[in-house]
Parts: sequence; structure tokens; C-alpha cells
Amino acid sequence: MTFFEYAPAPESRSVVDVRPSYGLFVDGEFTDGQGAPLKTVNPATDEVLSEIAVGTDADVDRAVRAARRAFTRVWGPMRPADRGKYLFRIARLLQERAREFAVLETLDNGKPITESRDVDVPQAAAHFFYHAGWADKLEHVGLGAAPRPHGVAGQVIPWNFPLMMLAWKVAPALAAGNTVVLKPAETTPLTALLFAEVCQQADLPPGVVNIVTGAGDTGRAVVEHPDVDKVAFTGSTEVGKQIARSIAGTSKALTLELGGKAANIVFDDAPVDQAVEGIVRGIFFNQGHVCCAGSRLLVQESVHDEVVAALQRRIGTLRVGDPMDKNTDIGAINSPEQLARIRELVGIGEAEGAHLWQPDGDLPERGNWFKPTVFTDVSPAHRIARDEVFGPVLSVLTFRTPDEAVAKANNSLYGLSAGIWSEKGSRILSVANQLRAGVVWANTFNQFDPTSPFGGYKQSGHGREGGRIGLRAYLKES
Ligand code: NAD
Ligand code: MG
Repeated sequence: MTFFEYAPAPESRSVVDVRPSYGLFVDGEFTDGQGAPLKTVNPATDEVLSEIAVGTDADVDRAVRAARRAFTRVWGPMRPADRGKYLFRIARLLQERAREFAVLETLDNGKPITESRDVDVPQAAAHFFYHAGWADKLEHVGLGAAPRPHGVAGQVIPWNFPLMMLAWKVAPALAAGNTVVLKPAETTPLTALLFAEVCQQADLPPGVVNIVTGAGDTGRAVVEHPDVDKVAFTGSTEVGKQIARSIAGTSKALTLELGGKAANIVFDDAPVDQAVEGIVRGIFFNQGHVCCAGSRLLVQESVHDEVVAALQRRIGTLRVGDPMDKNTDIGAINSPEQLARIRELVGIGEAEGAHLWQPDGDLPERGNWFKPTVFTDVSPAHRIARDEVFGPVLSVLTFRTPDEAVAKANNSLYGLSAGIWSEKGSRILSVANQLRAGVVWANTFNQFDPTSPFGGYKQSGHGREGGRIGLRAYLKES
């Protein structure tokens, strides 16, 4: 049902200057990596954007040594209020260069420019502002009068929110007085490298932040380096388990933020149009490449048909295509590997007997794309109800009573987030209390704030990021 066509509203890519190649950022400078370089690609066009250095064990060792020196000589001894000044400076530079960061994020990741512009970059800046304020107030985090940093933090992040995940990791680490070696994801390194330039621009002392690009082997070298004191990882549950095993028995502190399979629960008294907006935001935001995505819709049986019909109508209006266009709702799938994984799980969903629905319309010819997809007739035993698809694919299940909703919601290996849609406050509170999920949204979904701790139960990981609790992961009692 199209009433009129939108004129194209492309953001200009002339605000960014993508270099043909990038080195590793170690000890305040860009240096060569010893590994065979890899290419980073724009997933919406297949265009090669740049060649990226790959850090070997020796490169990682160099970065960890730089971080240790900076910790011992400069950043550790620095007055906390002065550390705060650097963080405020970085936060302001992120805001000043917001447009550049947003365009670069969209080019490298494939997410819609409106999301990079309105969510990723402002959230990243907000994390630096928030933690800048904490830098000279650490006696109030709840770890005694003089909590101490761990030392060198080794951090590995995924490709779904490249700059935002960097901010979630780097800001609290620095505020607490640690130095950092961070490894961005192999398909989305560019905003982390632009962040390295921001560190230079802010005159951050060399070695306080080191950025070592590369793939899984580089990540493993960071995590397993004997002089890393604290490990923070966001990514797949499988790699999270490997990391937990590899550092078991060492004195390293660890936080893991892993997968999810969130239940988004719609009760029969929920305002349908509002719930539909939340369902769409829950599963199609960032192409569904979201660990806390509302990928399991649990609808009360009596309103199932009405909700699904309204949802399909709404999905029919979503615009899938050029991420640089300001009218785009759903951008490109981040990599051919991720697209293959989505296709495989969707194929299993059909083979297991769930009913697949997709809107009409064509997808662009080049690049990686997947239509917003809704599966109905899904049972809790289906793979698409259990496994993280990490794509724009919603599985719809039903329930009759609040108890059944809670039981089905908690029937998962994961426990990262959940949503509840109801007009009754008492019902929201009682259901929320029974859900085994780190974050529970009520009559909204996918809202983030640096003051609010985020993290999971069960195989969604352990530890929290954000807020006072998240900051404590970067400190120890003195
Ligand atoms: P991944 O876990 O392999 O990658 C995440 C990060 O870890 C990347 O930087 C990667 O280079 C690094 N890495 C890989 N192997 C490592 C190792 N052995 N030691 C240390 N670091 C290592 O995730 P992926 O392959 O990009 O995605 C696979 C699936 O993981 C997705 O389909 C999705 O289900 C899930 N995922 C979840 C999140 C999340 O936010 N929780 C993010 C990305 C992917
Ligand atoms: Mg890329």
C-alpha cells in the first residue's frame, strides 16, 4: 500500500576522509602490524573502504607494554580530576565530530544513518560524559574509601555497535584509572580508528588507549596476554565461553556480555498500535543485530490475530535499502557470514513447520540484505525460538495466562532483556519481578542510558556495564 514515493535524502559522505590503509594505534601513534592486512567493506555496496593492519601476538605484546607503562607512570598516578578532564575532552570531541563518526559508522557497518546519528554516536558521547563525572568520585562507587584500578584492561568488542561498544568499554576503564588495549571487530574497525585520532586530538597521554585491529586471533592474544589484568568481552556466547575457560585460574577480572533471545510480552490490555511500534523497534532496530533484540514475541492468544495483522501492516511501510538515505528504516546485513547464518536459521524455521511472512518489495542487488521477517506458528522447541538469529527475524508465540507468559519467557538459555506491554502497572511489576532477564522494559523497548546497568543472566554473560555497578567492574577494593 504505497501512497507516495519518498524522494532520496542521502547523507553526504564527503564529511569523512577514509584513508586507503590504517595501522595499529599503539603508544599514541599509528604503527604497522605484522599480520597480513585485512580489508573492511561497506556491506551495503560491497565497496572496499580501506585496508586494516592485523595485530599479531608480538603487536599485542607491544600494545600491552605501552598500556602498562602508561598505567604505571602517567595515568595511574594522575589526579582523578585530571583524568576526568581528558574524558570530558573526548566526550566533547565526539560531539563536535558527530557527523563524521555517524557517516563512517554507517559506511562500515551498514546501519541506517538515522540510527548512527541519533543513537550510536550520541550514546557514545553520553558514556564519556557520564564517566567523566565519576572520575573524581570513585569513593562513592561502594568499594571503600579508595578503590583502585585493576591496571591494564584488555577489551574485545563486536560489530553491531562499533563505536558505542567502544565507549561502553573505554569510558569506565579510563574513569577508574585503568589503561586499555581494545580490539574492534574485523568487519567494523573504522570508527575505533577515528576514535584513536580523537585520543591524539585530546592529547591523551600515549599508551592510555591502544587500538589493535585484527580478527579472532588478535582478540585471543589480547585476552590471553599475561600482563592484562581485566578482560571485558562482548560478542557470541561461544567465544565468551572460550574466553572464560582460557582465563580460568588466572587472577584476571572478567565481564562477559553475550547473546540473547529476549521475550517481548504483549498482554491483551496493551495498546496495540503502541505495542506494534515497540515490537518493530525491538526486532528491526539495527537490522536485528542486537544482543537484547526482542526476537521472541509472546502475544496473549486472544489478541494474537489483531497484533499480527497490525504488525504486518506496519512492516509493509518500513523502508529497506541504502543506509545513507535518511528515510531508510532497515539497512544492510553486516557481512556475508552473518547473512548466511540468518538464511540458515530461517531455512530451519521453515523446515520445522513455522509459517514465514515477509513484505513485498525488492532488495538492492549489491550488498547483503535480508527482508524483515515474521514467523508465526512457532513453538518453544523450534530452533528459531531458541537460537539467536541476530537478524531482522521475529518469532511469534502465544500464551493464555501471565504464569504461562513468564514460564515461556524464562524458557531460554539466555536472559539478557525482556519487554512487557500492558496498561496495568501491578501486572508489569509482578511479571518483571519473575523474569530472569538483566533488563526489563515496560511499554517501550531498546532504550539505553549510561546510568543504567546492562547485562545478563545465564548464558547471556555475567557482570554489568553502565551505571555505578558497571564502573565497579573496573575497580577493586583497596
Ligand atoms: P564473535 O564472538 O566471533 O566476535 C566478537 C568479537 O570477538 C570480534 O571482535 C572477534 O574478532 C572477537 N573474537 C573472535 N574469536 C575470539 C577469540 N577466540 N578470542 C577473543 N576474541 C575473539 O561473533 P561473530 O562471529 O561476529 O558473530 C557470531 C554470532 O555471535 C552472531 O550471529 C550473534 O548471534 C552473536 N553476536 C552477539 C553479539 C552481542 O552483542 N552479544 C555481538 C556480535 C555477535
Ligand atoms: Mg565494514
